[in-house]
Amino acid sequence: MKILVLNSGSSSIKFQLFDANTNKSLVSGIIEQIGERKSHAKIQFKDENGQNIILEKNIAIKDHKAGLEIMNALLIESKIIKDLCELDGIGHRVVHGGEKFSKPTIISNEVIKEIEKLIPLAPLHNPANLDGIKSSIEHCPNVPQVAVFDTAFHSSIPKYAYMYALPYETYEKDGVRRYGFHGTSHHFITKEAAKFLDMDVNKLNAITLHLGNGASMSAVKNGKSIDTSMGLTPLEGLIMGTRCGDIDPAIIFYLSRTEGLSIDELDNMLNKKSGLKGVCGNNDMREIGELAKEGNKKAKLALEMFSYRIKKYIGSYSAVLGRVDCLIFTGGIGENDIEVRKNSCSNLENFGISLDLDKNNQRAKETIDISSNESKVKVLVIPTNEELEIALQVKSLI
Ligand code: ADP
Repeated sequence: MKILVLNSGSSSIKFQLFDANTNKSLVSGIIEQIGERKSHAKIQFKDENGQNIILEKNIAIKDHKAGLEIMNALLIESKIIKDLCELDGIGHRVVHGGEKFSKPTIISNEVIKEIEKLIPLAPLHNPANLDGIKSSIEHCPNVPQVAVFDTAFHSSIPKYAYMYALPYETYEKDGVRRYGFHGTSHHFITKEAAKFLDMDVNKLNAITLHLGNGASMSAVKNGKSIDTSMGLTPLEGLIMGTRCGDIDPAIIFYLSRTEGLSIDELDNMLNKKSGLKGVCGNNDMREIGELAKEGNKKAKLALEMFSYRIKKYIGSYSAVLGRVDCLIFTGGIGENDIEVRKNSCSNLENFGISLDLDKNNQRAKETIDISSNESKVKVLVIPTNEELEIALQVKSLI
C-alpha cells in the first residue's frame, strides 16, 4: 500500500511517499519557488544498495498543477512508482479545519467548498492547501484524497477553554474561538509516548511541546487535547521565531495611536518582526545560542524569555491536568536544544519534574527519556513525524 503526503504552501509543495504496510518512507522531496522564473524540484531516496540518490530539475514551474507533473516525472524516473495514479491514497495537510472538521476527511466537492469557507480564518494557508488538493484531484481523479487538518486534534478542547471572553456574537457570527494548530504533531508524539511508556494512550496525561519556528504546547488528558497555546490563529501562546505569542491586546491600540501604524503594519510586526527575531534580531535558535555564549545580551534575554514563557505554560497545564504522566519535547528546538530543555524544566521539582542533565545532554534521533530517577513526571524527547502521522490517518480512513 503506497500513500503520498502533500504539504502545499503558497510557492512550494513538500511531499513524502510511504509504504503504508511498513510505515517506511520511500522517497521525499520538494518543489520550490513555484510561480517564479527559476523553480526547483528535488526528490531524494535510497536505492537498492542503500545509496542516497537525489534527482533534481531547475525549470520554471508556473503553478501547483505543473509542480505535480514535475513531481510525477521525477518519481517515475526514480522507478519507485509507475505513475501517481497507481497510489492507494493521497493525504493533504490542511491548516484550518474550523469547527467543521474534527477528523481526517475524504475530499469531495462539498469538502472543498467547506475548506474554501474557512479561508478567512487562514488566509495564507488554506488557499495554498486547496491549490495542492485541486491539482492532485485533477491529476489522479481515481485515487482517494484525504484532508488531514492541523486543528483536528484540538477539537476535543472543552468550550470553557476554547472561548474568549469577548461578546458572544463574535463566536456565533465570526467564529472567534481557540482552534489550536500543530495538532498532527501533538497527536503523533502523544501516541509515541504511550508506546514508549507502555501505557494505554486513552489513559495518558501529557504536556506536549512542539518547539520549531512556530511553537505551541498542549495539555493532553486521556490521550485527548483539552487545551493548547495557539488560538484563533497561530500567533497566540509561546514566543516563536518571528511571532510574539501572548501579549496584552491593548498594545495594538497603543501602537496604532502613538506610532500611527495601520492594522496591516501591526499584523506584519506581530507575525514577522517579533518573537526571538524582534528581541535579538535573529530567529535561528542555533545562532541565538552561539550569540548568547559570546555574551550578546539581547540573545541571552531572548533565550530567557523563550524558556520563561514555556515554564509558565508547564505550570498552568500541570494545574489543568492534575496528574501529569509525561512532558514531551519535539520540533527542531525541542529535539535538539539542550539549554532550552534545561531552562524550561529548571526548578520544577514541586511539579514532580526534574531532568537528568547527562541524559538531557544529547540531540534526539529517536525517543529518549531525559528525566531523573526521582522525577515523577517522565520527560521525553520524541522526534515528530507529521508526514507519517498524516499517512497513518489516510490509511485508517481508506
Ligand atoms: P519549522 O517550524 O519551520 O518546521 P523546525 O521544527 O525545523 O521548524 O525548527 C526550526 C528551529 O529549530 C530553528 O530555530 C532552528 O535553529 C532550531 N534547531 C534546529 N536544529 C537545532 C540544533 N541542533 N540546536 C538548536 N536548535 C536547533
